[in-house]
Amino acid sequence: MLVNLRAYHRPRTPAEAVALLREGRTALLGGGTELFGLDDDTVESVIDLAPLGLDFILAHGGEVRIGAMTTLKRLAEAPEVATLAGGILARAICQAAPATIRAAATVGGTLAGNKGGEEIPTVLLALGARVTLAAPEPIKMPFELFLSAKADHLAGALITEVTVPCTDQRAGFAFVSRTPADRAIVCAAAAGARVAVGGMGPHPVLGWSDAATQAISDHRASAEYRRWVAPALVRRALAEARGEVLA
Ligand SMILES: Cc1cc2nc3c(=O)[nH]c(=O)nc-3n(C[C@H](O)[C@H](O)[C@H](O)COP(=O)(O)OP(=O)(O)OC[C@H]3O[C@@H](n4cnc5c(N)ncnc54)[C@H](O)[C@@H]3O)c2cc1C
Repeated sequence: MLVNLRAYHRPRTPAEAVALLREGRTALLGGGTELFGLDDDTVESVIDLAPLGLDFILAHGGEVRIGAMTTLKRLAEAPEVATLAGGILARAICQAAPATIRAAATVGGTLAGNKGGEEIPTVLLALGARVTLAAPEPIKMPFELFLSAKADHLAGALITEVTVPCTDQRAGFAFVSRTPADRAIVCAAAAGARVAVGGMGPHPVLGWSDAATQAISDHRASAEYRRWVAPALVRRALAEARGEVLA
């Protein structure tokens, strides 16, 4: 709970939101599904991003632009996303979050927060997505750069949109989880020959060899299990991307 929450801001522009954020002891509010569950007594005000007009999905010029305040539900159900890379992004969203969370959680909050799971960032990484931040001037960066130093990039900045190239390359997504409805322990996504692996370490990475070196153990699986299962998931994702059917 945010026990010291005293103020609520509704900025009109990303620059105004960044200025408020830089005053300190503040937090950005997307869908609130993670934020309002945090046990954090340092947050004294929230900055609601709803008025910024960041709830959009625009397919134009060979790419799909996704506003940071787009809910996961809207994104998973959007026709532009259903046809994008064989629909692996929509599949990853539905695996990552149940319908109750999808209805409120936003793209920006999922990527900025620490509880959004590995499926969505892994697929975005494989698809060659880019992230746009307001800092307050717009900064657009490859997804791998964003993930490699997320906390640094988000210090005094907010995510405004994610851009995904429209590719006619086939794609694939594979995961392993404790139960079919549970979140992935390890997952792999492939777009053509580009492979991303998630669930091995602090964030998804491109390529299998980097993933293998960072394998962690936690309450869901040991590092040994992760290293054992990940190559099979990579093979499955690549096979799907090649249009092969695995037994
Ligand atoms: C009971 C419970 C169950 C959950 N179950 C799941 C689950 O099954 N699957 C799942 O994926 N997640 C789950 N979560 C985690 C959480 O709901 C997700 O990570 C969610 O996607 C966060 O999105 P949001 O828009 O609600 O973010 P918020 O809660 O609004 O924000 C999350 C963090 O991101 C920051 N933030 C928000 N928007 C931006 C932005 N545009 N730019 C920069 N920073 C921003 C906030 O300041 C905050 O630090 C669960 C959480 C709870 C409390």
